[in-house]
Amino acid sequence: MLKKICVITIHDVSAFQSHLSKTIETMKLIDDLGVKYNLAIISNYLKKYPVTIDNFTRIIDKFITKDKSNIALHGLYHEYRQSIEDFNILTAEETKEEITKGILILKDAKIQQPKVFISPAWHISPSTAQALHELGFEISESMNQIELIQKDIIIVTQQVMNWDISGDSQQNKPTIKQNQQIYEKIMRGFKPSLLRLALHPPHDPPEVLDQQLEMIEGLKNKANYSFKTYDDFFKEGVQE
Ligand SMILES: [Zn+2]
Repeated sequence: MLKKICVITIHDVSAFQSHLSKTIETMKLIDDLGVKYNLAIISNYLKKYPVTIDNFTRIIDKFITKDKSNIALHGLYHEYRQSIEDFNILTAEETKEEITKGILILKDAKIQQPKVFISPAWHISPSTAQALHELGFEISESMNQIELIQKDIIIVTQQVMNWDISGDSQQNKPTIKQNQQIYEKIMRGFKPSLLRLALHPPHDPPEVLDQQLEMIEGLKNKANYSFKTYDDFFKEGVQE
């Protein structure tokens, strides 16, 4: 029998303080529900806010699990001059250099090296996969799939439930209804074995937080999903 797994990822965790405080509010509420989640960290958001011990690690450290990691690298700067960070035009070597910069910033801030990579553009090219492979990453998450980088396996999944389609909380409002419909479908019995929820506290419409918390509670208590980090997922796999 397949176990139903839900992977929650809190996106766009950066040293930009107004974003970080919203993110922490959300994390506390999710912690209260007693479920695990991943943190997708941007090392140097907008090429302007590099994470440091003082502006980031001290604040976020208690939400990072040490023995079983719950962190992912979510790009080096995520976006710059209005365009999203996308490694597609770079060679594997150039991508490796860029991602290495991201890892080193985390290292200086005393954050462990992530094994998970989530591209800000939510897809990766073959040369990015190669760079991630050489850098020792285990997992890369895309919109419709998860790649086990070292094993060269691609798992096609249900599309991520996501509330941030534009980066603007007003323009993101249509996602409220779309995700509600998916959730209701799940409650009626359509239960993907792997369900992913992407929360963007800085960009999700504010009223969405209650919906997200209610969904997480329903998925846990009514639909019997178990919540895993990517690290758990990688170690245990999807099968029971
Ligand atoms: Zn993002």
